[in-house]
Amino acid sequence: MRIGVIAIQGAVSEHVNALERALSERGESIEIVTIKHSGIVPECDALVLPGGESTTLGSLLVREGIADEIKEAAARGMPIMGTCAGLILLAKEGDSQVEKTHQNLLSLMDVRVNRNAFGRQRESFEAELDVSVLDSPYNAVFIRAPAIVKFEDDVKVLSKIDEFVVAAEQGNVLALAFHPELTNDLRLHQYFLDRVFGR
Ligand code: GLN
Repeated sequence: MRIGVIAIQGAVSEHVNALERALSERGESIEIVTIKHSGIVPECDALVLPGGESTTLGSLLVREGIADEIKEAAARGMPIMGTCAGLILLAKEGDSQVEKTHQNLLSLMDVRVNRNAFGRQRESFEAELDVSVLDSPYNAVFIRAPAIVKFEDDVKVLSKIDEFVVAAEQGNVLALAFHPELTNDLRLHQYFLDRVFGR
């Protein structure tokens, strides 16, 4: 078994670290690989798309030939978790800012995103979230966070702030608008690993 973390740009080492801690909590030790070029995604069993700058990330994924590999892997049912900018990339549709810049999206979830949904005043903040798959509140760190503002019926909403969806899943794809790798609470990494290990 092998989990890949896209390492083109952004919060990579934090995700690797959180995955390692979450795996050790479960008593599992499987390989975690960082991905900077094509050829590795097809050999992974799960994938994490970290936060960063979604415009840069999106175009580098296409340029490196990784974008198509991710789409193929997703179609085969590989569990994928996207956080923050990663959530933007998972979307099918973006706001006017995304459209204007012709940002490359992977189109793996039937959702529309607002790229900087919480505006300038709230560049970064923490919020206590009710997450439907967790049995107590989750303290989430948001940094220039996006949000899902529209979604199709088979998208399951896991958490919202007002009208903004900040955690959701559709089939094998899990999207979080915040940064689970920046807190010590590993429950959402564990939730993702439950899918990877099929339990
Ligand atoms: N708002 C950023 C973007 O559009 C994402 C921020 C993040 O990943 N922390 O790419």
